[in-house]
Amino acid sequence: MQQCTKTAIGIIVVAAGRGERAGSSVEGPKQYRRIGGKPVIVHTLERFIAWPKTARIVAVIHADDTALFEDARNGLSGGVAIDVCLGGRTRQQSVLAGLRALSGSGITHVMIHDAVRPFFDEDLLERIAAGIEAGETCLLPAMPVTDTLKRGDAAGLVVETVPRAGLFGAQTPQTFAYPAILAAHEAAATSGLDEFTDDASIAEWAGLPVRLVEGSPDNVKLTLQRDIAMADAKLTPHGLPDVRTGNGYDVHQLVPGDGVTLCGIFIPHDQALKGHSDADVALHALTDALLATCGAGDIGDHFPPSDPQWKGAPSRIFLEHAARIVRKAGGTIMNADISLIAEAPKIGPHRQAMREKLAEVLAISLDRCSVKATTNETIGFVGRREGIAAIATATVVFAGDAR
Ligand code: MG
Repeated sequence: MQQCTKTAIGIIVVAAGRGERAGSSVEGPKQYRRIGGKPVIVHTLERFIAWPKTARIVAVIHADDTALFEDARNGLSGGVAIDVCLGGRTRQQSVLAGLRALSGSGITHVMIHDAVRPFFDEDLLERIAAGIEAGETCLLPAMPVTDTLKRGDAAGLVVETVPRAGLFGAQTPQTFAYPAILAAHEAAATSGLDEFTDDASIAEWAGLPVRLVEGSPDNVKLTLQRDIAMADAKLTPHGLPDVRTGNGYDVHQLVPGDGVTLCGIFIPHDQALKGHSDADVALHALTDALLATCGAGDIGDHFPPSDPQWKGAPSRIFLEHAARIVRKAGGTIMNADISLIAEAPKIGPHRQAMREKLAEVLAISLDRCSVKATTNETIGFVGRREGIAAIATATVVFAGDAR
């Protein structure tokens, strides 16, 4: 009676290369370069970890990269344990080390994958898995060659055009019945052959049938510096910046008194602004404008006029509170602009001091703070000196993009 063995797929991620063609970098070899904020190898491992059919993972790394790999691994989550082994002088030796590390693990098949191919997808893995279930021993994902191929000579002249019919570009993960590929690798090593550039070549050398599987056009190998840069651009959001503008408006009544506080500056005057706090219309309007950039309500929600603790309070505490809310929401205050509408007192002589007060309270540079003033041409309640009004606009850029 035929024994039925359940398929168990082990993964070897080959990451021992030095990647000279991608140039040197402080981040180390190309499998450790960051794309989309994470090392290339983390993207690769995450995709295998996320695939439900992955039973084991072995990462084959270079002895010099132990710290780099541990750093990268710390960024991973998921339930699949990752074993680590050290590679050899050639890619072939590194794969053999990975194959030996899997002995006794109970796997029936092994996928051997280049760490620097982070863009394979689950559909590709499923096409390969279907080949395993169909009883294939060796499966090679590959794409038909689409460029016209030329053979050149040492002088740089074309010798011939090579017919591309039947030609394929090999990808990974190349997938094998585990005992068969382990035996082929051991035999090649014993024969002193150690320069095979992929594992299907070793299977072919050993006389094993290799079945082509449709590859994926996205499953490219990151080889050159520009490949890394393009991969990073592909994974980095580049949508619209999250710029938000809020406005605010406030009015307070003028009553007999000895002065008004506007933008935090006291100006002696024969009237005063009536209000629960210091009645600084300018800072009240700007507080509303800032709160509006993150949908945080208005000044009355945060500082109810019915609350006795705000009686006579300096309005800078309202503005500071709004700025804290904005920053907590990930906002950077880019600009604050206030227009005062008052018949008297004259604002002009105090504008610079007002701008400096805004810059200090908001902790932004002076050139981002604007204070303007106008009269109301003697008409209306402002024109009759019954009150002072202020309009404010705030611009805030929030973290992330707007999509
Ligand atoms: Mg007010």
